Amino acid sequence: MTAEAEFSTEVKSPASANKPLAPGLYLVATPIGNLEDITLRALRILRSVDRIACEDTRQTQKLLNHFDIKTPTVSYHMHNELARTEELTAELKAGGRIAVVSDAGTPGIADPGGQIAQAAIAAGIDVFPVPGANAAISGLIASGLPTECFTFHGFLPAKGGQRKTALEALPRDGATHIFYEAPHRIEDTLADLETVFGATQHVVIARELTKLHEEFLRGPVAELRKTLAARTVRGEIVLLLAPTVAEATAKEQRASIAVEVAALMKSEGISEMDALKRVARDRGIGKSEAYRELQREQNRLR
Ligand code: SAM
Repeated sequence: MTAEAEFSTEVKSPASANKPLAPGLYLVATPIGNLEDITLRALRILRSVDRIACEDTRQTQKLLNHFDIKTPTVSYHMHNELARTEELTAELKAGGRIAVVSDAGTPGIADPGGQIAQAAIAAGIDVFPVPGANAAISGLIASGLPTECFTFHGFLPAKGGQRKTALEALPRDGATHIFYEAPHRIEDTLADLETVFGATQHVVIARELTKLHEEFLRGPVAELRKTLAARTVRGEIVLLLAPTVAEATAKEQRASIAVEVAALMKSEGISEMDALKRVARDRGIGKSEAYRELQREQNRLR
């Protein structure tokens, strides 16, 4: 038998089609918009487990109805994750077979699932990934941005100041950055991106992936802002940022704000706050931005 034949006939899966489903926890990916994006294995496992723990039982019920799956469901979301983890782990220890699904996509990725996986592993229970749709990876592969090295950040902070700080703190390591973003925040986030990385920073907005109105907007952040300003933005969004190495180099070459502030305090005999205002004005940035930068530098030195 050739190695290839051996490989293709080898059955590694503990959930092989002709065997009863092994006890354990199954983290099952579900579609992010297009119902065809469910795998045959996911359907078989959802049919065979004792219970399906769902982020929202009503949402998952629609999927189960569509595929005529009658398995009982139980809620498992961020508000009952801890209590439910204990209950489900006890069931798993007794030999149960439980699937975890989120409303859409891969459990544990900006969704519940991670906590129960950790608890199950700690209790010596087998945990099986059942891969499938994921918005971040779907957006990335069709973005046209480098895919060799990427960082997934989940959702950015909702508050402007915190969001800007998070963007400023992004590692400039040549990686593509991937975020989930809400449609009502995308314009503010793009504005922050332009402030932090400049008007020519290349970004990609991947909207409504796998759905009827799937759309990719690619280009410099300033252009995408103009495009979005002229319309209402709806639907689900993955926001991708091209690697930011060049900007990082320019920023890192700039003198430290803490050094400038200290020098002014000494030479002019003024307070730290007055010195900071002067530095902010000279750099053409706001006081609060200068203050955040100062704090970051001071934290780094601690
Ligand atoms: N666990 C999911 C996954 O594997 O992608 C993500 C869940 S997270 C709570 C939901 C966010 O993912 C949305 O707000 C949006 O940013 C992104 N998302 C989900 N489905 C999407 C789609 N079809 N198109 C674009 N973004 C999507």
